[in-house]
Amino acid sequence: MQAVVCHGPEDYRLEEVAKPSLPDGGALVRVEAVGICASDLKCYHGAAKFWGDENRPAWAETEVVPGHEFVGVVEEIGSEAAQRWGVAVGDRVTSEQIVPCWRCRYCLRGAYHMCAVHDLYGFKRRTPGAMAEFMTFPPEAIVHRISKDLPPAHAAFVEPLSCSLHAVERADIQFEDVVVVAGCGPIGLGMIAGAKAKGAAHVVALDAVASKLDLAKRSGADTALDITTDDIYEVVRGLTGGFGADVYIEGTGHPAAVKQGLNLLRKLGTYVEYGVFGSEASADWSIISDDKELDVRGAHLGPHTWPKAISILESGVLPMDDICSHQLPLSQFQEGLDLVGSGSTSVKVSLLPGS
Ligand SMILES: [Zn+2]
Ligand SMILES: [Zn+2]
Repeated sequence: MQAVVCHGPEDYRLEEVAKPSLPDGGALVRVEAVGICASDLKCYHGAAKFWGDENRPAWAETEVVPGHEFVGVVEEIGSEAAQRWGVAVGDRVTSEQIVPCWRCRYCLRGAYHMCAVHDLYGFKRRTPGAMAEFMTFPPEAIVHRISKDLPPAHAAFVEPLSCSLHAVERADIQFEDVVVVAGCGPIGLGMIAGAKAKGAAHVVALDAVASKLDLAKRSGADTALDITTDDIYEVVRGLTGGFGADVYIEGTGHPAAVKQGLNLLRKLGTYVEYGVFGSEASADWSIISDDKELDVRGAHLGPHTWPKAISILESGVLPMDDICSHQLPLSQFQEGLDLVGSGSTSVKVSLLPGS
C-alpha cells in the first residue's frame, strides 16, 4: 500500500510499504480521510524542542506514518473487538488519537489522555498513523462509529473538535459567562461551537484574519474582533459592565495571547490554555495571584468528548464546507503540509488516501 513515512525533520516520503495485517484483538481499517494538524507541521519541521532537547522525550519518532485525525471503514475485525467497540465490517469508524495503556496511574484514574506511555497515532512506531491506505487499531484503542452521511474530511474533523470541547469543559462555563476565544483556526472554531453548546451568554472570537472572523461568526460567535484594528479591551468591558471576561480560552500558542488573556479577564476569572508554543511566554504572574485570583488551567487532547464532537458534526451547526478548505490525494501530502504552514490561505487541510 501507499503510505507517507517520516524519516526525520522535513524528510517525509510517499512510499510503497506492506499493508498491515489484522492485529490480535484489533481492527484493520481502510483510511478515507486524514486531517493535517499544526502539530503534524511542528513535527515535520523537527520541533527542535521535541527532537533535540535531551530533557524532553522525543514524542515524534522516525520511520512512523503520520496522521492522527482520521476516519475510515472497517475492513477486517475479529468478533471480540467487534463486540467491544460495537462496530462491524463496513462501518465508518474513528479512533481517539491516544491509545491508552490502561495500566498506568492516569489510565486507572480515568485520565487516559494523560497516559504515561502516551502512544499517539502518527507519532510513535507502535501506533502508525493514517497517512496511508490502511491502518490498524490495537485492542487498547477507543473506537467510535461515525455517520457515513458526512463527507470523509468533515467526519475526520472529530479529532480537533474533541480537543476544542475538552478545553471548553476545562473552562467550566456558566450560563451568564462572557467567553473569549483567542484564535479562529480549526481548534478555535470548535471552541466557539463548544462554548455556545455549554450555554455561554456571549462568545467573543479574536483573530487577525478577516475570513477566519467570518467563519467564527458562522460557527456561533456573537462578536468577532480583529485584534489588529478593534479595541478588544473596550468591547469586552462593554459586554461585562466594565469587569472583564469571565472565561478566556487560548488556542493560538502565541506568547502575546497569554498576556492579552490575563488582561481581558475579570477578577476570579478562568483562563484555559490549549495552545502549544514555539517559544516561552512571559507575563506578570501577580495578575494571577494578588490582582485577580485567576483559575489557570491547561488542556490536552479530548478525553470523554468524542460522542459530543460526533453529534455536533452530525448536527450540521458548523460550516464544515468552509472549515474543510482543502482536500488532496495522499500523493500531494507535501502540498498539504505547505498549505498548513502558509496559515491564512487554509483552515483544515485533509488528505484522502483512497482518491
Ligand atoms: Zn490534531
Ligand atoms: Zn496509561
